[in-house]
Amino acid sequence: MTTLKLAIQKSGRLSEKSIRLLQSCGIQVSNGTSRLKAAADNFPLEVLYLRDDDIPQYVADGVADIGIVGENVVTEKQKAVTTVEPLGFSKCRLSLAIRREETYQGVAQLAGKKIATSYPVILNQYLQSKGVSAQIEEISGSVEIAPSIGLADAVCDIVSTGSTLMTNGLKEVETVMKSQAVLIATPNLPSEKANLLDQLVFRINAVNRARKHKYILLNAPNDTLAEISRLLPGMNSPTVTPLAREGWSSVHSVMEEDSFWETIEALRQAGAEGILVVPIEKMIV
Ligand code: ATP
Ligand code: ZN
Repeated sequence: MTTLKLAIQKSGRLSEKSIRLLQSCGIQVSNGTSRLKAAADNFPLEVLYLRDDDIPQYVADGVADIGIVGENVVTEKQKAVTTVEPLGFSKCRLSLAIRREETYQGVAQLAGKKIATSYPVILNQYLQSKGVSAQIEEISGSVEIAPSIGLADAVCDIVSTGSTLMTNGLKEVETVMKSQAVLIATPNLPSEKANLLDQLVFRINAVNRARKHKYILLNAPNDTLAEISRLLPGMNSPTVTPLAREGWSSVHSVMEEDSFWETIEALRQAGAEGILVVPIEKMIV
């Protein structure tokens, strides 16, 4: 039987979220703390636990068919892999930062300076696109301490909240790239494997779509239903059922998390009452 081989990070920021994504797709796998690979319980999937930096290479070589890794690593490694889907977790950015006490007037001031980074390829592309020539110091970890130990004038590093930069006396001045976890695949997978990948992507989409939506129930006077239906188009149209109380209806629909509070406010203005909002586990369109 054909098995799809999936590479995930052995231990790090992506590990638990990758395993949780599989679980929410109904696929049980163990964590990689004590092993190199494991078979999933109820899907023809074998999981390889690797360092995240090695995942693009393994997927390009076909040792793994697919992988979960940060877009930042995919771009940096420049391997022949196909990005199948953004996964919506481990969002971060790769940013340039300088010493807090320096004034910043633009990327041009980095000309001739030393910039420490673990992402020399991405940084080099960025600097070239800005027409700035600087010296790139490649270091593999603790990039944020480079300016304070005199190794560099600036850094190009992963940021999510900026607190690590702050505690090291640095300030973020430019976003070089935005990143999130992505699903990558070997180009031209054989058809049985491509088929399994389609099934997996179908499940991931159902889970991720559900995460971005809420189920909403509310009561409203019948003369407000046209406006409320306009605010809650749902997947097709809202379900409207009469209440026992004369002249009132119950409306059920699906709404987007992104515009949640705006929609709730508009519904209240329109006359909705007794609004209930419920999470959705899976959503298939
Ligand atoms: P490994 O030992 O596997 O090489 P690592 O130290 O290179 O691990 P992690 O720090 O676990 O990597 O980060 C893995 C990925 O998670 C990064 O490549 C990036 O895409 C994302 N990431 C890194 N830092 C953050 C953060 N602060 N917030 C959100 N996502 C992040
Ligand atoms: Zn790494």
